[in-house]
Amino acid sequence: MDAIVLHGGASNREELKIKVQKFAEEAINAGSALDAVIHAVRLMEDDPLFNAGTGSNMRIDGSIQMDAAVMVPGDFGGVINIEKVRNPVLVARDVMLRSPHMLLAGDGAVQFARKMGYEEHDPTTERAIEKRERVIKKLKNGEIPEYYHPEFLKEFLCDTVGAVAYINGEFAAAVSTGGTSLTLRGRVGDSPIPGAGIYAGEQGAVVATGIGEEIIRRMLSLKVYEEIGKAPLEEICKRHVAEFGTVPVGVIAISNEERCAVSNLNMPYGIAKR
Ligand code: ASP
Repeated sequence: MDAIVLHGGASNREELKIKVQKFAEEAINAGSALDAVIHAVRLMEDDPLFNAGTGSNMRIDGSIQMDAAVMVPGDFGGVINIEKVRNPVLVARDVMLRSPHMLLAGDGAVQFARKMGYEEHDPTTERAIEKRERVIKKLKNGEIPEYYHPEFLKEFLCDTVGAVAYINGEFAAAVSTGGTSLTLRGRVGDSPIPGAGIYAGEQGAVVATGIGEEIIRRMLSLKVYEEIGKAPLEEICKRHVAEFGTVPVGVIAISNEERCAVSNLNMPYGIAKR
């Protein structure tokens, strides 16, 4: 059965649930599995409530750097620390389909985006500015300990977006993020790292959200993917999420028969089938 699963981040934000479900129902009819996941992620990148595209988190220095990736069995495209584009996921798709490379980073990714015709766009929102100021204030006041202390993790709202689909017998995955808030400029999370934040192969597709450093350490998406077919999909995802303890994490996964969305926070997700 054709299906798509979307998530709007490991964030506890209930209000995004209805939106994400609506986006899933629209995206499942966008074409191939790749078209569908890209369409889904693009809708969320354009919605300022999500931490991707417009609405992305800021770095400590106030800049916005975004990561995005797409993956299908045997192929991958991603952008790292791209700036001033509206839809990083479209640039990631073009890296896969219209360049000889798999990953482009920083200035080179921006130059490539311009060559592909993507105009300059400022993804800054009031919400992102306010969020950065709030966390900096708490840090200065000593209200929260620095870096990855469990208490500090609570300040990281991870509303990264992602999608996995199985359509007409094909799998695809896509992900896009402004990164966890208040990281150093140049920091790269799990999202554009194949096997960490995203994976797709002949057996299924997986996308993760949460604290990227922990997700990379555990190669979460690849680990889940490798177990597809060995146990019920939801059971596999729950087991891997449980290993994160209180570190915020979420995962969506799809195989040809099953699909699920699992998180240790209240992750908004949507599932559409046809
Ligand atoms: N995983 C993303 C990162 O670490 C953040 C998120 O999921 O919101 O960059």
